Amino acid sequence: MPIDKMIEKAYDLLRKRRVEYIGEGTYNVVGEHGTYTVIRRIDGAVNCNCPGFIRRGRCSHSLAVIMLNQPSLLKSIQKEIEKASSRR
Ligand SMILES: [Zn+2]
Repeated sequence: MPIDKMIEKAYDLLRKRRVEYIGEGTYNVVGEHGTYTVIRRIDGAVNCNCPGFIRRGRCSHSLAVIMLNQPSLLKSIQKEIEKASSRR
């Protein structure tokens, strides 16, 4: 999946409130193909248990958690996506 598609997907997960903090750095993310667990360490590194992350080390679920913890990043992504969708 290209990175911009992944960002769009991650943003969509947040927008639809499919990312839920369940405590101790752990998030439940309801993805298209199942519910996954994303762990965010104190140093900001994230880990997801979905097949995509295990294979490639990145996925929309873990990205959504990163965005959730970086409001300025989330805002700039939001702006980009709104710009892109208004061009369509
Ligand atoms: Zn994942």
